[in-house]
Parts: sequence; structure tokens; C-alpha cells
Amino acid sequence: MPERSVPEAVVSPGVELGEGPAWDDRRGVLVWVDIWAGRVHAYDPRSGLDEAVDVGQPVGAAVPRESGGYALAVQDGFALLDPDGTVTSVAKVEDDIPGNRMNDGKCDRHGRFWAGTMAADQRPGAGALYRLDPDLSVTTVLTDVTISNGLAWSLDDTTMYFIDTPTQGVDAFDYDAVTGELENRRRVIDVPEEAGSPDGMALDEEGLLWVALFGGGAIRRYSPDGGLEGVVELPATKTTSCAFAGPDLDDLYITSAHERLSAEELAGQPLAGALFRHRPGVRGLPTERFGG
Ligand code: CA
Repeated sequence: MPERSVPEAVVSPGVELGEGPAWDDRRGVLVWVDIWAGRVHAYDPRSGLDEAVDVGQPVGAAVPRESGGYALAVQDGFALLDPDGTVTSVAKVEDDIPGNRMNDGKCDRHGRFWAGTMAADQRPGAGALYRLDPDLSVTTVLTDVTISNGLAWSLDDTTMYFIDTPTQGVDAFDYDAVTGELENRRRVIDVPEEAGSPDGMALDEEGLLWVALFGGGAIRRYSPDGGLEGVVELPATKTTSCAFAGPDLDDLYITSAHERLSAEELAGQPLAGALFRHRPGVRGLPTERFGG
């Protein structure tokens, strides 16, 4: 078992809406985004330096791409970010719906990039979940989504977990790893409202889920049968997502936000929006790359 440590802020002062942490093992950097600023960050734990690239529009997630660079879930759909900083749109998604944008996203073990949308006013059911396959085709996977967020796949690759934030929990689907198709949606984890709103999540090597709680200032570890197995508290209430990272996948990086905090609230949590690192005592799974 790796050693545990308390969370520390590794990038501070923070950003408005930090999100989408992913480990890029080839560069040895933790990639994350500041959504409204349209910036893709890369934090290098060896140097302690954090660098950001402006991609020209709000960005919900950036995932390493098999052929180099990153695939992005941006305001208008899916795009590619080349190592030289060039951004190319590859598939428009809901670009005809003003106010809708892509939010959280992640790749499965077969190189498919899943990402969902939400309305700026968080209108119920206005979003959807999409899948970008390596051939750059897009499939609408789920409709009637409000705030598309956390994604994870079980260790045996037969179940997908998904968070639509206002539903206050995690749903599971039977997942066909060959086709990427989902069926048999059911609720597996309920999050009490007083704990915050479930946001991004990550799976550990024991098959348990680490769920970020927006407004709750914490990450909770849940077993897929709904049992609460642990809580990591953060000095920032708007905890948005988490990912396992580092050469041994034994660091948990946690993103946060300071959006819409009053001056008084911000004074009480000066680390809001920081990128945090915590050693949870269990390893996670590698970040999967987009295969296109
Ligand atoms: Ca999120």
C-alpha cells in the first residue's frame, strides 16, 4: 500500500473553474483545464511549473491523444490540440444551441472519447452525452442530461459509471466494451445533498470510485454498491474533479473553483481554485488516450 498524505495545493493562486484532470504519462504532466478561460494547463510535478495554452473557447476537458497532442471537449464540440498549439474542430456538437457547451469528458480503454454537455443556465434535460470514436464519428449516447459530469469504467470493463450532477448520485450502465453501447441504467450511489453535488470522478485499482463534491469541499470514496469508504477534505468548497497520476499512479490530483464565491467567502478559502495533490494510500488506473 502506498503511503498516505494530506492534500497540498501545488498550483496556487487558483483558477476560476478548474476541471478535467488527466495524467499524460508521455510528458509526465498533469493536464487540467480552466473552463471559462479556455485554457488547457499542464502541471509538471518534477519542476513544479504549470503552463497553460489558450484554445480560444471554453474547454471542459482535454485528454491525451494517441498520435500526440490532446483531444478537447470545447464549447462547440470536439476538437484536437496539436503539440504546436493549433486547435482544429473535428465534430460540432450542439453548436446551434446558444448557451450549451461541452463539460466533463474522459476516454474509455478502447480509445473512445466520451463527453457531455450542459446549458449555461443549467436548464433541466438540456444536455446530452456523446462519444467520439477514433474514426472521428460522433454518437449521441444519452439525452435528457442536465449537467454531464463524472465518467468511469469498471475494472472488468462491463460497467460504465456516470454522474449527471443534479441527480445527486452515480448511475451505472451495462457497457459493451466492443461497441461502446449502454443499457440497463440504474442508480448505484446516492450522495446526500448536505455533502455537496457529485461532479467529476476517478476509479482506483480496487474498483472503488472517488467522487468530487462541488460545494462539499471533499472527495468521497465509494464502493460501487453505494457504501461510503472514505472522505478526503479540501480547503476549497468547490471541489470539481480528481484523477490518479504520477509515475506510480499513487497521487490523486484534485481540481477546484472560485467561481461565484463572494469576496468574503474567498477570504475564508484563499486556496479556492487551486490544483491539489493528495496521496490517498491506494493506486488508480492510467488515463486512457483518445485513439483517433
Ligand atoms: Ca465537472
